[in-house]
Amino acid sequence: MKITADLHMHIILDGDDWKAAMDHHKKGPDEELIRSRLAAYRDAGITFLRDGGDKYGACLRAKELAPEYGITYLTPAFPIHQKGHYGGFIGRGWGDLDEYCELVETAGEKGADFIKLMLTGLMDFNNAGRLTEAPMASDDILTVIDEAHDQGFAVMAHCNGAQAARTAALAGVESIEHGAFLNKEALHAMADAGTVWIPTLAPIANLRGTGRFPDKVLEYDLKTARENILYAVSIGVPVGAGSDAGAYMVPHVQGIINEYDLLREILGERTDEILSDAEDRLKKVFC
Ligand SMILES: [Zn+2]
Repeated sequence: MKITADLHMHIILDGDDWKAAMDHHKKGPDEELIRSRLAAYRDAGITFLRDGGDKYGACLRAKELAPEYGITYLTPAFPIHQKGHYGGFIGRGWGDLDEYCELVETAGEKGADFIKLMLTGLMDFNNAGRLTEAPMASDDILTVIDEAHDQGFAVMAHCNGAQAARTAALAGVESIEHGAFLNKEALHAMADAGTVWIPTLAPIANLRGTGRFPDKVLEYDLKTARENILYAVSIGVPVGAGSDAGAYMVPHVQGIINEYDLLREILGERTDEILSDAEDRLKKVFC
């Protein structure tokens, strides 16, 4: 298949040092750098990008410039996290519900196409099957998703772990990003809600052999993802291709090529049909 979309990427990040990448745009987005990345996507035939957002406005500048490159570009303005939890490096945080509602409004005023929520921590690449922190409380997950919906937005949720994903799906979340360590219950809730799953395998797979984390853990993470992806597809969860480009070891453009190859190893001959169905579903709810 010709890859024409990356359903999860970060124009602000560089695939290497997130701190330096963020600092680079701190005083305002570097338009030249953003243009060079958009040109690279265009040259690779990519015409659709969905960004995870950033607090310095790089994704919003990219959205303005994207039509010059023939690219449809969706952004949440910035991702929203609960203060004291994962997401502060790239997003904006809330302490109580009033602050949360204001952030959703602000994102809308800045031109957000959807709301991106950080509901959980990351995979712990040093310990198989573990996450870096406890997820947001279930009641809060339901509330933040409901409120975004009430304000008229679809929700892209950074969400790992079965319990949080199940709760998010019960709230009708439109997409689950990463989705490490899901289980059948969570996947059925996602199937029922029509939630698109973007498993982002490249950031795990591309770490193998680097010595940064134990390969045994990375292989375990990929094995559980593989099993869950096969089950998800069997019960009708739309599984789509997003690379998390910009994350460590996931370069722009090359990231989505890696992601496609990884998904193809799992999905085989049905890969293109499955990925394009998920892309259609995603465009229907996010565009
Ligand atoms: Zn991401």
